[in-house]
Amino acid sequence: MESNQDKNKTINVVLAGNPNCGKTTLFNQLTGSKQYVGNWPGVTVEKKSGKVKNSLGRDIEVVDLPGIYSLSPYTPEEIVTRNCLLNDDPDVIIDIIDATNLERNLYLTTQLAELARPIVIALNMCDLLEKNGDKIDIPFLEKQLGIPIVPISASKNTGIDKLVEKVAELYDNGKYVPVKNIYSYEVDRILREIEDALEDIKQHSYHRKRWTAVKLFEGDKVTWNHYNFTDKQKEHINLHVDEIHTSKNVDREMIIADERYKYICSITQKAVTRKRPADYLSVSDKIDKVVTNRFFALPFFLLVMLMVFAVTFGTPGTLLRDGATYLITDVLGGGLESLLVSVNASAWAQSLVIDGIIAGVGSVISFLPQIMLLFTLLSLLEDSGYMSRAAFIMDKLLRYIGLSGRAFVPMLMGFGCTVPAVLATRTLENQKDKRLTILITPFMSCSAKMPVYLLFISYFFPDCGPLVIFGIYILGMVVAVLTALLFKNTILKGKNAPFVMELPPYRMPSPKSLWLHVWDRLKDFLVRAGTVLLGASILIWFLQSFNFSMQMVSPDESMLASIGKFIAPVFSICGFGDWRASVSLVTGIAAKESVASTLAVLYPGASLASAFTPLSAFSFLVFVMLYTPCVAALSAIHKEMGSAKWTAVTVVYQIFVAWLASALVFQIGTLIMNIGMM
Ligand code: GDP
Ligand code: MG
Repeated sequence: MESNQDKNKTINVVLAGNPNCGKTTLFNQLTGSKQYVGNWPGVTVEKKSGKVKNSLGRDIEVVDLPGIYSLSPYTPEEIVTRNCLLNDDPDVIIDIIDATNLERNLYLTTQLAELARPIVIALNMCDLLEKNGDKIDIPFLEKQLGIPIVPISASKNTGIDKLVEKVAELYDNGKYVPVKNIYSYEVDRILREIEDALEDIKQHSYHRKRWTAVKLFEGDKVTWNHYNFTDKQKEHINLHVDEIHTSKNVDREMIIADERYKYICSITQKAVTRKRPADYLSVSDKIDKVVTNRFFALPFFLLVMLMVFAVTFGTPGTLLRDGATYLITDVLGGGLESLLVSVNASAWAQSLVIDGIIAGVGSVISFLPQIMLLFTLLSLLEDSGYMSRAAFIMDKLLRYIGLSGRAFVPMLMGFGCTVPAVLATRTLENQKDKRLTILITPFMSCSAKMPVYLLFISYFFPDCGPLVIFGIYILGMVVAVLTALLFKNTILKGKNAPFVMELPPYRMPSPKSLWLHVWDRLKDFLVRAGTVLLGASILIWFLQSFNFSMQMVSPDESMLASIGKFIAPVFSICGFGDWRASVSLVTGIAAKESVASTLAVLYPGASLASAFTPLSAFSFLVFVMLYTPCVAALSAIHKEMGSAKWTAVTVVYQIFVAWLASALVFQIGTLIMNIGMM
C-alpha cells in the first residue's frame, strides 16, 4: 500500500464513538471551539468540523460525528455517521472509547476496524478509570485488536498531543490496519467465500472487503442495493450466505453481533482488571435507585423543577431583579435624563430615550439576571446528568401520548429557545413524529417569554410568583399533551420507533461548560435586545407618540391606538380588550420579549397595575404562553416541517388554542368570582 509523503495536504480525521464517550469534549480540546457538550442523544446530529490547533505544524481537519453504538443504519445518527465514514473516506479515524465502559464501546470498534481505514483508539476518561482503581492492559489490547491505542482524558486535556502525533504518523505511513479476524471458524470461512465471490465479480472497493462481506452476510439492505448485482451474481453470493440456516428468531445480524461480543469478552477479560466486584453498586447506581424509582421518579422530577422555579422567581431571583432594575431605571435612566436636560435636548429626544429605549429595552434587560439564574440551574441539572434521568422518566410518559422518548430532547430544549428545539427534531425517525413534536414544542415556554411573566408577577402576583409561573409552564405542557393526543389519534397516526438511551454516571458539572451554556443564552439575549427589541421599542414609541399627520399627540390618539383598536375587540372575551395589550401581542411576533418592552413603553411608570386585574393578567399570560412563536422560530418550523401547509396549520392552531384557553380562563374565572360574591 502506498504511503503519503505529502506533508502539506490536509489530513481529514473523523471522531467516531458511542454517545457520551466524550467526542465533543475532545473535539473542543482539539479545535479550541465551543460546541455544545450535552448529555443526551440528539445533541450532535449534524457533523461539525474544525481545524486542529496544536497540530505539530500539520494541517488537520477534524469532524465530530454523532454518537452511535453501531454502524447499522437505523437512527438518523447512525445514518449520518455511516455515510460520512463510507463516502467521505476519512484519512484517519479516531475511535474514541470510554475506558470505564470498554466492553460496550469496543462493539463499535470491531465494526470500524472492518472499514480498513487507518484507525487509532483514543482511550478516553482515563482519569476516571484511575480514580475507580481499575487498570487496562493497553499493550495487550493493542496487540489483540491490531489498532494503536492512546490513553487520554479529554476533559483534563491529557494525552491529546500524543493522539495528534499518532494521527499524523498513521497518515504518513498510509497503512490500512489489516483486519483482524474476530469470527468463529465457521463464520469466517463463509465470509471469506463471500469475499472471493466478490473478487470474481470485481464489483467492490477492495480495501473494504471484509466490511462488505459482513454486510452482505447480515443482509444489510443499503449494501445490497449499493452494488446493483445481477440476479446471477446475487445467487452466487447467496449460495454462501445461505450456508448458515437461520431460524425465525435468530437472524444473521444477530449471529454477527453475537460473535463480536464473544470476541470482545474474550479479550476484555484479560485486558481489564477491576478493583471492585462485578455487582458493586456505584454512588451513581445508588442515586438512580431512588431517582428513577417507579413511584418516586415523577414526584421527584416535579419537586426539582418546583425548586428551580422557587429560586428563580422567589426571593433570590427577585432580589437580583430589584438590583438590576435599580441600576437601569434609576442609575442609568436617571443619569441619562439629567444629562439630556442639562444639554437642553428637545422634548421628543428626551421622550425617545427615556420612554422609548430605557423603558422598552431596559425593562427587558432588567430581567436578565433572573433568566441567567434559571439557566445556570438548568445547566447544573443537565451537566450533572440528572436531565438524562428526566428524559428516561419522560420516555414512559411520552409513550402514553404516542410520542417516543426522543421527542423529550427537543421539548426540553424548547424551554430555552424554540429555534434549536425545532431543529433538534431531526433526531426523530419518522415524519409524523417529527411534525407532531414540532407542533407541540412551542408550548414549552421559551425563555424569551419570561420577561413578560416577570413583568406581570411583579405587579399582580408579588406573593405567589413562583406558583403562577409554574402553573403557566404546566399549562403549556398540558396543552402539549392534549395536542399530541388530538393529532396522534387523527391526522398523525403512526407507529413509534424504539428509543434507546443510556444513563451516564452523575458527574460534577464543570464550571467551564456551565459558563458556556449560560453565555450562549446571554449572548443571544443581548443580541436580540440590541437589535429587535431596540428597533421595536423605537418603532412603538414613534407610533404611539405621533398621529398619522405626524403631530406629537397623546397615546390615545396615536397611530398605534388606531391600529390596536382594530384588533382589540377580539380579545375582549379574554379580558384584555385594551388596544395596548393587542399591540404588544403583535410586536411579540418579532420577539417574545417585545411584549414586555412594548407594554413598558405603552404603560409608563406603574400604570400597568391599573390596566389589568389579576384575573385578566393571568389570562393574558396564558395567551402569551400559548400563541405563535416568534418569526425566528416560525422560519425554523417552516424549514423542518418542509411544507407550507403544515406551517400554516401550526400558526393557526397555536393562535386559536391560545385565544380559546385565555378566553376560557377569563370567563370561567369571572364566573367563579361572581359565584363567590353571591
Ligand atoms: P459525546 O456525547 O461523545 O460528544 O460526549 P461529550 O463530549 O458530550 O461528553 C460527555 C460527558 O463526559 C461530559 O459531561 C464530559 O464533561 C464528560 N467527559 C468527557 N471526557 C471526559 C474525561 O476524559 N474524563 C471525565 N471524567 N469526563 C469526561
Ligand atoms: Mg457530542
